[in-house]
Amino acid sequence: MSEDTIFGKIIRREIPADIVYEDDLCLAFRDVAPQAPTHVLVIPKKPIPKLADAESGDKELLGHMLLTLKSLAEEMGIAEDGYRVVINTGKNGGQTVFHLHMHLLGGRSLQWPPG
Ligand code: AMP
Repeated sequence: MSEDTIFGKIIRREIPADIVYEDDLCLAFRDVAPQAPTHVLVIPKKPIPKLADAESGDKELLGHMLLTLKSLAEEMGIAEDGYRVVINTGKNGGQTVFHLHMHLLGGRSLQWPPG
């Protein structure tokens, strides 16, 4: 169950995290192993394991997460230079925590293609 992931524990404040934003629908906190000067994860409070499990009823939630991420990028001063949004999905996508999350990466020039 997604509620039993480490991100579920962060939502329930059972383990600490550097939380930078919270509202009724989502939570954002700094990645514990940052891959860029700014590396924040935006997660839904609803326990959706991965993007492939999202449904049409999640349309508003997913849009809200993206717009929240956009606002955070502006607040963190990385919007002007640009940033990357990543959703690793499933085994081949490199997903390691099975609670849907959007990575916000910025503060340096990022390479393409990814590994
Ligand atoms: P993914 O590989 O897309 O599933 O990303 C999972 C991310 O969660 C990785 O970047 C991890 O560094 C990050 N992560 C794992 N545990 C924690 C934690 N307790 N607090 C913050 N970030 C975490």
